[in-house]
Amino acid sequence: MSQKIPYKIYLNEDEIPTQWYNVRADMKNKPAPLLNPATLKPLTAEELEPIFCKELVKQELDNDTAWIPIPDEILNFYKMYRPSPLVRAYFLEKALGTPAKIYYKFEGNNTSGSHKLNSAIAQAYYAKQQGLKGVTTETGAGQWGTALSMACSYFGLDCKVYMVKCSYEQKPFRREVMRTYGASVTPSPSDTTEVGRKILAEHPGTSGSLGCAISEAVETAVKSEGYKYELGSVLNLVLLHQTIIGLETQAALKKYDIKPDVIIGCAGGGSNLGGLVSPFIGEMLRGEADYKVIAVEPASCPSFTRGKFAYDFCDTGGICPLAKMYTLGAQFIPSASHAGGLRFHGMSTILSQLYHDGLFEARAVEQTSVFEAAEQFARVEGILPAPESAHAIRVAIDEALKCKETGEEKNIVFGLTGTGYFDLYAYQQFNDGTMSDTIPTDADIAAGLSKLPKVDL
Ligand SMILES: *Cc1c(COP(=O)(O)O)cnc(C)c1O
Repeated sequence: MSQKIPYKIYLNEDEIPTQWYNVRADMKNKPAPLLNPATLKPLTAEELEPIFCKELVKQELDNDTAWIPIPDEILNFYKMYRPSPLVRAYFLEKALGTPAKIYYKFEGNNTSGSHKLNSAIAQAYYAKQQGLKGVTTETGAGQWGTALSMACSYFGLDCKVYMVKCSYEQKPFRREVMRTYGASVTPSPSDTTEVGRKILAEHPGTSGSLGCAISEAVETAVKSEGYKYELGSVLNLVLLHQTIIGLETQAALKKYDIKPDVIIGCAGGGSNLGGLVSPFIGEMLRGEADYKVIAVEPASCPSFTRGKFAYDFCDTGGICPLAKMYTLGAQFIPSASHAGGLRFHGMSTILSQLYHDGLFEARAVEQTSVFEAAEQFARVEGILPAPESAHAIRVAIDEALKCKETGEEKNIVFGLTGTGYFDLYAYQQFNDGTMSDTIPTDADIAAGLSKLPKVDL
């Protein structure tokens, strides 16, 4: 009695979830607490509040409340671009000749071009609530900076963005989108901060990294009256806001009685992946269901597959809290790959704990094979994917091809986090056949891990 599944499963506006889901409430092994880098003691709310907004600190530290209501003003903003469609990839299935059924949750339908707006609007809202003048942040590929610029302009907040230098140079148009929304954009490392000057002195000519840019943005927030720092991934609070993706996906699948077998997302800092999968992993933790969940990361920055589960700094300058996570070492500067949003040495502490406990698996994929998947997807499904998103496409295609061999009709769901209109330099290299894969050697990985801070708890 199977009914025809539409090409796009839309929810109605009044079916948008009105609460975020906090998977920590269902985790027996809670993620390890953030530590103060000076004392190596768990950070208290009082210690976090000079850096982050009060309400966000509360969300960051809340390991117990399963459901957190979404304020009306945020919900109204969500309605500008949500619910996002869950698309049945009929054309891709046909092109692959697979019996698998492939679905993707598309988060690229807003000007920022990615899922990042889901948390940006929430973080700007709480900054406004607290009466701040503005916020500082870092951006890698530029999507987060764009999203936060949009959210800040909506609430009339100032927004100072430190943009990783290689992205700043590769994506000048991103910068103009941010400036159009009123943000100021500085390439990082820069000489506007102490930590930036130090990094420039130690690594002259560096193309920068998210870790450096975070250090600069935090320093600026702490030194500027009326400013706080906001982060676009990694933190528990960001993962929490991103659960709107997974909750909508669950609701859409439920409409047609679809039970996913495999759920796939790309992993940068872990917020989109965590947002997509944590409502499903919650079911696993509560013993209600079982899914195969796959995190996909770039072979150039393989935190899960080659990193270590240990306390480390979130930033290169070592001024941010320490987090227990799968890390390559805060001093590890990944090669300048085209998936800027996945170029972070660490990983969400929630996902790190869940991975450590065996709730999902991880795969590292090489850049050229990612772009092959992106091209194949774009040609049949129409959407030009972001390179980050194409990591998930790669593995979705691989899984669908396995089904072709075995004849299994699995339901495969993946997160299509955004569009690639600002990544055409990368597509150009792919089309010209000049794209390379830079995979760290074992010695590179060992060097990064040798500088992990010593923490005895
Ligand atoms: C930032 C970004 C990612 C990585 O997201 P995380 O939440 O850090 O894992 C993936 N895809 C796109 C399009 C992005 O902009």
